Amino acid sequence: MKINEILARKRTLSFEVFPPKKAETETEELFATIDELKKFHPDFISVTYGAGGSNARSAVEISGHLKEVGIEPLAHLTGGPSSPEEIDGVAGELKALGVENVLALRGDKPQDFSKEYCKYFPHATDLMKHLQKYGFATGAACYPEGHVESGSLYEDLKNLKKKEECGASFFISQIFYDNSYYYRLVNEARKLGITSPIIPGIMPLVNANNLRRIQAMCGSTVPIELRNMIEVYGQNPAVMREVGINYAVYQITDLIAKGAPGVHLYIMNRAETANEIYARLENCFHELF
Ligand code: FAD
Repeated sequence: MKINEILARKRTLSFEVFPPKKAETETEELFATIDELKKFHPDFISVTYGAGGSNARSAVEISGHLKEVGIEPLAHLTGGPSSPEEIDGVAGELKALGVENVLALRGDKPQDFSKEYCKYFPHATDLMKHLQKYGFATGAACYPEGHVESGSLYEDLKNLKKKEECGASFFISQIFYDNSYYYRLVNEARKLGITSPIIPGIMPLVNANNLRRIQAMCGSTVPIELRNMIEVYGQNPAVMREVGINYAVYQITDLIAKGAPGVHLYIMNRAETANEIYARLENCFHELF
């Protein structure tokens, strides 16, 4: 089923998984994780796609597996350096597997980025235009604190509007740890006439060592309260895990109270993270989703 149609009916619970590095040995582990996630009745599971299609084979296989086990896949697709023919190859395979939803992205830039790198698809919008012929429900990424390459949040929001004009019917946000950035994004997007649902993306910070990596990768601000807790509890992995889960639970309940259309959990392929969140929010997911 198309995700925009699900969102028109109900609040969504979804997870993100990524193709394992060692596809041959670790894919079975990921399939076991997917089996575990199934018990939470996710509305969809998204599957990341390497910038430049490095793991395209594995990503397509995982989307196919989700379809087989009855979970709606959301296949990420990055334009980046791919040629239209390469994109058509992957889009055709996804279509043949019955995949109905795609998250269209440019993909992360390599360090030696040049204009030539994204010759055909410099932005997600170019990929969206190319994908229109396939009839997928198309989602796109959005950035509560503005995209790192944008001069301002307003400039980034104008590009978000272009994404909607090119066919995006839902958005999933970058990770954030301060909900006020998400509320500001939604308010400003609505002022610009963007009407599609904006699903907040939450990554429980269960390991203090991930902090620097997340900040470098996503530029997300970590509020002083959370930073203080990481400072105090970071050396104790078991306590840090509880802190990260509790903080995510707080973020989710606040987001739902303020009308978020769903929640997308970045669980880093760890079913136990989903288990711990779900255990604390079972009634919320049952009654409000
Ligand atoms: P774009 O939309 O091209 O945006 C990049 C910059 O260009 C922004 O500053 C934007 O304001 C500007 N811009 C956008 N459109 C236009 C336009 N038409 N004209 C001029 N400027 C424009 N990366 C991966 O490699 N694989 C993944 O699977 C993946 N999944 C992700 C999922 C989510 C939910 C999010 C939030 C990010 C994901 N990323 C992924 C990271 C993403 O690829 C990077 O953030 C990348 O730097 C930008 O991707 P984009 O699709 O937002 O690009």
